[in-house]
Amino acid sequence: MIYYSQCGYLTGVGKTKPIVLALANQKGGVGKTTTAVNLAASLGYLGHPTLLIDSDPQGNATSGVGIGKKNLRHALYHVYTGECTAQDAVVPTAYKNLSVLPTTIDLAGAEFDLMERPHRESALSDAIVSLGEAYEFILVDCPPSLGLLTVNALTAADGLVIPMQCEYYALEGLSQLILTVRRVKNAYNPALGITGILITMYDGRLNLSMQVLDELKKYYSDKLFSTMIPRNVKLSEAPSFGEPALYHDKYSRGSLAYLDAAKELIRRVR
Ligand code: ATP
Ligand code: MG
Repeated sequence: MIYYSQCGYLTGVGKTKPIVLALANQKGGVGKTTTAVNLAASLGYLGHPTLLIDSDPQGNATSGVGIGKKNLRHALYHVYTGECTAQDAVVPTAYKNLSVLPTTIDLAGAEFDLMERPHRESALSDAIVSLGEAYEFILVDCPPSLGLLTVNALTAADGLVIPMQCEYYALEGLSQLILTVRRVKNAYNPALGITGILITMYDGRLNLSMQVLDELKKYYSDKLFSTMIPRNVKLSEAPSFGEPALYHDKYSRGSLAYLDAAKELIRRVR
């Protein structure tokens, strides 16, 4: 068991508060959900009770851990509207130490509803207090935008993990994301930090990948995960079985890379 202080650092034996990490990047299709699902499953597998919060109306993280969206009584939208608590909406998964706070497409309306509310940026942060000390990690999968859902995740988070592909446009998007982090930090959440940038779908045979990686190392070397996630077909086919890759093909390159990334994540938040 790892014990963390309010700021999310290891403190030895005592009160536990989960480490909350937002997985965000406003660019679409960079591997946020794949990373959220597989890091959460790996953390659970490694013995750390983990909650995955699906904060993207597309609901890919929900189905990615085998939860059907049709028959859910409660989901993240209902937490935002106050119809239920976060604890009411959490469902266990079939995977070790892994629960999910699922989403349905209703969540698309939450940003609009939140506009009317005071403290609209801290609704998620307020809601997860009710979860108490049940989890060591809470991972929030964000939608591909910097709207209110992402701002809520960043306001609730101790740290941000940025999944990123080695593409030229990725570098432009990164400055915009870092600016948003700075704004949220100044306005709502002084404790927010960038936990790390995780390269996804890496293909070392491409010259462009190596060039972008060199650029990243130049400016963000301390933030770059040394683990890189390779492009791997098992990672893309596992969601259609509702399985994290680790439970789909334990020894695939993708599963092993996310296990390594989870171990590195634990070292980074300590
Ligand atoms: P969105 O912005 O729409 O939420 P995202 O950033 O969450 O997208 P994913 O859905 O995780 O991105 O990934 C986009 C696509 O790439 C998916 O089809 C996924 O299966 C595939 N994919 C992600 N990572 C890998 C990988 N390492 N190897 C192969 N395919 C991958
Ligand atoms: Mg996604």
